[in-house]
Amino acid sequence: MNEVQQQIENNPSLQVVLQSNATNLLGLDRAGLESFFESIGEKKFRATQVMKWIHQLGVTDFQEMNNLSKALRNQLAETSCVQNLHVAKDQISSDGTRKWLLQLHDGNHIEAVFIPEDDRGTLCVSSQVGCALDCSFCSTGRQGFNRNLSADEIISQVWIAAHLLEEEKKPGRKITNVVMMGMGEPLLNFDNTVTAVRIMMDDFAYGLSKRRVTVSTAGVVPAMDRLGDTLDMRLAVSLHATNNALRDELVPVNKKYPLQELMAACRRFIDKQNTRSRITFEYVMLDGINDQPEHARELIKLLKGIPTLMNLIPFNPFEGSGYRTSSKNAVNRFREILHASGMTTVVRKTRGEDIDAACGQLAGKIEDKSRRHRRFEEPRFGME
Ligand code: SF4
Repeated sequence: MNEVQQQIENNPSLQVVLQSNATNLLGLDRAGLESFFESIGEKKFRATQVMKWIHQLGVTDFQEMNNLSKALRNQLAETSCVQNLHVAKDQISSDGTRKWLLQLHDGNHIEAVFIPEDDRGTLCVSSQVGCALDCSFCSTGRQGFNRNLSADEIISQVWIAAHLLEEEKKPGRKITNVVMMGMGEPLLNFDNTVTAVRIMMDDFAYGLSKRRVTVSTAGVVPAMDRLGDTLDMRLAVSLHATNNALRDELVPVNKKYPLQELMAACRRFIDKQNTRSRITFEYVMLDGINDQPEHARELIKLLKGIPTLMNLIPFNPFEGSGYRTSSKNAVNRFREILHASGMTTVVRKTRGEDIDAACGQLAGKIEDKSRRHRRFEEPRFGME
């Protein structure tokens, strides 16, 4: 019996879910729920009633949905379910960051992180178990790719966070923004990502505006075009390098979609969105690798003409990464060069250091799908 089978064996509630063919209503967007209710001979408006119960009121037992007829409640209980993920670990950092390790029905684990700030509360959610894109500085990339999350597994992260934060009954502990920047590449799980984003933005569910939902990509160009045709929301691009040679090393998907193609896709994306849109570019600061003044100047040239929010991210080291965090001086110098060119630039604060809050660090301690960490025991780029 392998580790996953053992976890299922030890958890009777997971066995029940695995044996059930019930439709999980948690992961259906409004159109999906309307089709579901029509398919069982009910009116479409049941969709909005049930969405409110599930997402706004946190009700998962159909018998409590008292504006549905008794007969419908019984029918739903027989044919469907509202099934959330299992909270395997729940940690709160001294800075207020809260992180959940969530167990999926097949025994795998993912992470979601809530980051409170003065004017907002941002939830970072995962889209895949592991990730295939193998970015060299990323803890999730080390775990290899296991599978896509279903739409209900993505939205369950929001449901769990929203309701556990509400239980805290403290001011400022509310989700105002969602970023799909956790484990995985959302655009390689396109349909489930779109369904989950639609639920996040639905007024009968979480009601987040298009400016408060961000989907991040490492640069899967055809899917960026498709996303621009499908949804109006914020896009973040994990850039991390200013020339193809370095980006091929840091973000290997660059070999397939090099910087010139990526920048053209960003311009097309902006053209499809409303006029106030801009793209967030993520840039992890790696000591001696991509943090020099010439990199900042290359960045300015590269992004010319694209409405940009530049997010400089001090690298959060993890065991065997082979990289070091850039010094404060290097980060400040880099930011000042960008700032002087007129680019809106922020330096992300490191959060939740005492709870391994950087993407993939907690789940990485649970499982390493490919044992690829051995490859990273060697120093990188000639660093000692
Ligand atoms: S940075 Fe994002 S795209 Fe790259 S390996 Fe990590 S999770 Fe995947």
